[in-house]
Amino acid sequence: MTRLKKVILILLAPLLFVACQPSKNRLSDWMKHDGKIKILSTTAQIGDLVKEIGGDRVDGWILIQGDLDPHSYEIVKGDGEKLQRADHIFYNGLGLEHGASLSSMLKSSSKATAIGEKISRAYPERILKKGEIVDPHIWMDISLWKKGIDPIVEALSAIDPEGTPVYSERGKALLEKMETAHNNVLSQLQKIPSEKRYLVTSHDAFHYFTRSYLADPGETHWGDRFAAPEGLAPEGQLNPRDIQKIINYLKAKRVSVIFPESNVSRDSIRKIASAGRELGLEIKVCSEPLYGDAMSGLTYLEMMNRNAETIAKYLWNMQ
Ligand SMILES: [Zn+2]
Repeated sequence: MTRLKKVILILLAPLLFVACQPSKNRLSDWMKHDGKIKILSTTAQIGDLVKEIGGDRVDGWILIQGDLDPHSYEIVKGDGEKLQRADHIFYNGLGLEHGASLSSMLKSSSKATAIGEKISRAYPERILKKGEIVDPHIWMDISLWKKGIDPIVEALSAIDPEGTPVYSERGKALLEKMETAHNNVLSQLQKIPSEKRYLVTSHDAFHYFTRSYLADPGETHWGDRFAAPEGLAPEGQLNPRDIQKIINYLKAKRVSVIFPESNVSRDSIRKIASAGRELGLEIKVCSEPLYGDAMSGLTYLEMMNRNAETIAKYLWNMQ
């Protein structure tokens, strides 16, 4: 290495160090008292709505970051301070955040709003159950998730009454954006011939999505159009009966592609694909993932659009 290169590297080192720690610095900014409303959202799907509605008045933080599983997330060191610092907390509820430590903290907090519970109380007929258990994946239907706008506008306005006109205005703009996105996803997926609109993914995250976007208009047996080897929360454990059930489904519906989810291990679906191949079925694991519980850096609407594009591409266009 030349002397000049060494000098440049030494000069750049502090900058590289800072660049490697953006989230740590962002967090210490978020913890500061700087006049902004500090909102903690458990998931990125909620955080994205808060960001769109809150604009510059609000500084948001996501508790369950990256590709972590929201179903089983437990409080880690530093989370207690975030929950305490937040002016308000938004979470999904409906049993999504069922890790014992997080769930009890959320339920005992006087400043936490469960968006899913609010939507469920206002539109109980649109909430799905698997047996007796409520399906928490309501963000997978944009036309249902948009119902979360009002509770967020309301909660932000209560903390920051001066910002009410801003929150209402931004809420209205977001509603329009979500309605357009819903229609786009719907029309893109409805172009797939009905007999090909059958979806298999890693876990039970796509029931709301299937009812809204893959079912024929007015179809009552739409539940038939989606299957997943793992339940409402990814379990990672499959018994031979689970595998056989999915193979029977793939065979009956003539489905030849299984979609992995961005934050769920591909072990289960790989096992299914190889068991199917042993039986002479042609089953591919899609090379592009779908986004269910995690957005992996995308915005909420990007995630929904990406899902629609990937499904349309592999269920239909590539056949
Ligand atoms: Zn899930």
